[in-house]
Parts: sequence; structure tokens; C-alpha cells
Amino acid sequence: MDELIKQAARDLSEAKMVTALTGAGISVESGIPPFRGKGGLWEKYDPMEVAHIDAFLQDPTKVWNLLFKDMKEVLDKAEPNDSHKGLAKLEELGILKTIITQNVDGLHQMAGNTDVIEFHGNMAWQKCMDCHKRYETHDIDINRIPPRCSCDGILRPEAVLFGEMIPQAALWRSRQVAQDCDVMLVIGTSAIVQPAALMPIVAKDTGAKVIEINPERTLLTDDISDYLISGTAGDVMNRIIADLEKLL
Ligand code: NAD
Repeated sequence: MDELIKQAARDLSEAKMVTALTGAGISVESGIPPFRGKGGLWEKYDPMEVAHIDAFLQDPTKVWNLLFKDMKEVLDKAEPNDSHKGLAKLEELGILKTIITQNVDGLHQMAGNTDVIEFHGNMAWQKCMDCHKRYETHDIDINRIPPRCSCDGILRPEAVLFGEMIPQAALWRSRQVAQDCDVMLVIGTSAIVQPAALMPIVAKDTGAKVIEINPERTLLTDDISDYLISGTAGDVMNRIIADLEKLL
């Protein structure tokens, strides 16, 4: 592992443009459970029962009770961890330009990154299903489920549910930064959810090095990644930054 950390520091220091793709795993150390893998929400629930647009439209109370309510409570308290801070440091050093995140937790922005593409929207805002009025999630009252707008319409998060389209601007820009980078850091994603998982393939096809950070192997590990640094995101990122600072 030490050799791979040194290699990653070298690759980052030599790169002209670095993009990161992050998934739920990067926020595990901030206390937010992932969907898949150990401790993932899917050990408890069927994704199609709780995170599909059809399930929400059929029974919003159930989806609010099983998923959104817990997510709001966890996100209200969550803080960036060392890995989010490490990516912010990489931006500050002029190395990392853009983060494509599948996460809806807003922790990259909170850590200080300024160019974050939210591939699956975010949980920071809710909108009324009837009149489209927006509310900050932090401020909504969840004593009444589902929470409602002043017009009595049901609120839903501005996150993309299974069965919904990815916002076109996010998709378009993600492809662009994946094509333009010469190193892509892929952190804490199982690379199962499409089309986000295509971005490392796009990067690889246009000649970029793909570096994965994940305690487990993924669908990218054998064919797409140049190497996998097997470990938790915070620890690995701290060690990469420490080595990188010696090279600068
Ligand atoms: P996923 O749940 O499918 O996979 C999580 C990945 O993270 C796994 O590969 C796991 O091995 C890895 N992991 C676990 N702990 C880690 C750690 N400490 N450091 C590094 N990696 C770690 O996640 P996904 O690929 O992002 O896809 C799930 C979808 O769920 C995404 O679309 C996202 O929108 C949504 N989601 C978001 C959040 C969030 O915003 N924090 C949380 C749960 C799910």
C-alpha cells in the first residue's frame, strides 16, 4: 500500500487536470451509511421499495418514513471528514479542478470545493410536488410525515430517485470533465449505478489514469482502474496529501 500511496502522490503532482468521482463510501466516515457494502441501507431495505420514483408516487408517507426522514436527521448533523478535506486541499493546491459526486449530502461544498457536479441532485432542498415552491431541508418540520408546503402539496427532496433522469447539465459537464482530465480519482463508489459509473470509462478511453480508493474491489478494479488503493477514504487521502506535500 505504501508504494501505491507514493505512486498516487506522484501521479497527482504530475497531472495537468485532475477530476474526482465520489460515491457514498466517501461519506461513511462522516456517519452516513452507504447503500451497498457492509452496513449499507440495502441490507435493511429493497431499493425499489424505498428509492424509486414509482414507490414515492404510490406511497410518499412510506418513503419518507423509511428513507428521507432518517437521511434528513443524519445529514443535519454530518460534517466533512478527512477525505472531503483532502479533496478541498487538492483544489487549494491547484491540482484538483472538479468533483463529480453521486452523493446528495453537500459535504464537498462544506469542505471547501467550489466546482462540484451533483450528479444525483441533493438533499439540501425540498420542492413542493404541486406548486414547486422550494424549502431548505434543514428548516422543514418532519413531525408531520410527509412534510407539506404552505399550499398543502407534498414535499420531496431535489435528489434524483431511481427511475428519474439525471439532470442534463450535470451529465453533459461530467462527460466533459471526464474527457478532459489526465487523472481521475474514484473514491468510495461501487460503480454499479449508471450512468455515473461510465465516467471513469470515458476518462480511461481518452487516456487518463484512473486511481481507485476503496476498501473493496469494484466493477472497475480489473479492467478500468490503473490501480486500487485498498483502504478507507480518510486514511488513504491523509497519506496521499502528506506524500504530495513532500513533492511540491
Ligand atoms: P454504494 O453504496 O453503491 O457503494 C459504496 C462504496 O463505498 C462501496 O464500494 C464500498 O466498498 C465503499 N466504501 C465503504 N466505506 C468506505 C470508506 N470508508 N472509504 C472508501 N470507500 C468506502 O455507493 P455509490 O456507488 O455512491 O452508489 C449509491 C447511490 O446512493 C449513489 O447514487 C448516491 O446518490 C446514493 N447515496 C448517497 C449517499 C450520500 O449522499 N452520502 C449515501 C447513500 C447513498
